[in-house]
Amino acid sequence: MTARVLDGQALAERLQKEIRPQVAAFNTRHGRPPGLGIILVGGDPASEVYVRHKVKAGREIGFRVDLERLPDTATLADTLSLVDRLNRSDAHDGILVQSPLPKEMGASAQQLVFDTIAPGKDVDGFGAESVGLLVQNRPKLVACTPAGIIELLTRENIAIAGREAVVIGRSDIVGKPMTLLLLHRDATVTICHSKTPQLADVCRRADILVAAVGKAGLVTREFVKPGAAVIDVGMNRVTDPAIASALFPAGHPRRSLFESKGSILVGDVHPEVAEVAGALTPVPGGVGPLTITTLMMNTLKAAHLRVGQ
Ligand code: NAP
Repeated sequence: MTARVLDGQALAERLQKEIRPQVAAFNTRHGRPPGLGIILVGGDPASEVYVRHKVKAGREIGFRVDLERLPDTATLADTLSLVDRLNRSDAHDGILVQSPLPKEMGASAQQLVFDTIAPGKDVDGFGAESVGLLVQNRPKLVACTPAGIIELLTRENIAIAGREAVVIGRSDIVGKPMTLLLLHRDATVTICHSKTPQLADVCRRADILVAAVGKAGLVTREFVKPGAAVIDVGMNRVTDPAIASALFPAGHPRRSLFESKGSILVGDVHPEVAEVAGALTPVPGGVGPLTITTLMMNTLKAAHLRVGQ
């Protein structure tokens, strides 16, 4: 069997097409586009790339997107005061603070900043109120990556209700909200983490397996029930030739890419899983593009909620 490819990039483009006229209609009706404020503290290279993509995607869709930068030396108070300014801004419907924040701000800074974002503008869905509403199954703004995965499963006609789902990873931004979204759609959900014994055996129960770990190729064929839908959230930059060759045989186009570039982006799911799974998201081109599109959908939703539509 070769797994059906769940093309997140294609779905992201389709969703963007669907959103564009709604953004234009909002602009016409309210005399302004939906607005997104993105706060970037410091110059973490990966964050720079993520933020660049978010700014570009938002502007292409027709949003006003303002990138608010603070230096590495910014304090927690500086960050909170910027959030407060955007909270009070009429032009901004959504606020996103790019993580991670500089370590110097302390371990609790990130959640404190997320909790300071006005709940109606919390387009990343990481604040305590957004999470609480999700737990109670009356969500408003839901974390973008898991919400994008649900959109993908739905549009690909992969049934969720009554099925076994296993999520590997229990982070606040992916694993936990993913689990709740699947649960609320009547899947029987198991959540796994680094202390789960017999991980492969647990995963093999899954009709839907979501890997959100951050370990290149962790999920091998032994983890996968034949025919299962496998969602690969992992985004791992591989620079070690031994790992690259364990994932891709000599002559494979991805291996050649690694050899020419010196690095390659891979997921948590080993490519051999394509021989067992029924459906599989690729990396890149799977979950990643959907995350950004879902951020745009959340911003539009926040804008509509703010104006009472
Ligand atoms: P995270 O906060 O580091 O959480 C990783 C989770 O994986 C933790 O719950 C950890 O368990 C678990 N884990 C680690 N090693 C494990 C192992 N050997 N076996 C089983 N579980 C293990 O990561 P995250 O923020 O959720 O992100 C996960 C991955 O998704 C990363 O590669 C990240 O880059 C990617 N990501 C992609 C997108 C996208 O748009 N495509 C968005 C967000 C994240 P413990 O809790 O026990 O430590």
